[in-house]
Amino acid sequence: THFGEREVALEDKQGLVNDVFHAVADRYDLMNDLMSAGVHRIWKDAMVARLAPPRTGTRPYRVLDMAGGTGDIAERIINASVGYAEVVVSDINTDMLRVGAERARKWRFPGQVSFVEANAEALPFEDGSFDAYTIAFGIRNVPRIDRALSEAHRVLRRGGRFLCLEFSHVDVPGLDALYRTFSDRGIPPMGRMVTGDAQPYQYLVESIRKFPDPARFSQMIAAAGFRRITHTPFSGNIAALHGGWKL
Ligand code: SAM
Repeated sequence: THFGEREVALEDKQGLVNDVFHAVADRYDLMNDLMSAGVHRIWKDAMVARLAPPRTGTRPYRVLDMAGGTGDIAERIINASVGYAEVVVSDINTDMLRVGAERARKWRFPGQVSFVEANAEALPFEDGSFDAYTIAFGIRNVPRIDRALSEAHRVLRRGGRFLCLEFSHVDVPGLDALYRTFSDRGIPPMGRMVTGDAQPYQYLVESIRKFPDPARFSQMIAAAGFRRITHTPFSGNIAALHGGWKL
């Protein structure tokens, strides 16, 4: 497969994305730590701190962690709620979910999570069935982002929270050049060293560059029906937290 610069049809894009995460599933967590020097953990902690899941209530606090992969966000949410939140980790890729389910057996509250294979563009969940929808480093991979956003809106209850953590576009002079060099010369070779293949990481770099900037992505979130939309840059906007409410 060639990810190259050429445009791929949307149907093909999902196939390529699936190949990438199939190939890296077993080394995925290690690669995240290596490539971000552990910083992805801080961004994920900040996302869950923003969500501030309740620790008690009259009924379960239900969260859908979409494109949840190996369960990093779910584990943090459940721990932050001290075992109160119930998180459905959903992902299109069974290999990522398998690694997640294996990891979850060693969590503090393994009974609070379930794993469901699904495409973010067409969710198998009822309208209004979640209190919060989270998606971390996932939406960039979805071919039709507008569909994923409107599905997020549909499955949330009124008053429900939408939070999306995603790579964004560096907005600090100097850091942008450094980041560009690291992306081109650092990431693909690192990927080859650890997984034996640079191509999935070439895809990673390209998908980050193609992702809409914060203003445009905020407009897309609004177009899906969300209100009180926020954008919080992390690390010079290398990553960004986007939030909204279904009101
Ligand atoms: N949320 C996890 C994290 O932050 O570590 C995993 C993020 S990983 C970079 C991206 C995930 O998106 C992969 O597990 C991939 O299978 C999933 N994905 C890609 N396309 C998807 C789709 N259309 N629907 C659901 N998940 C998708």
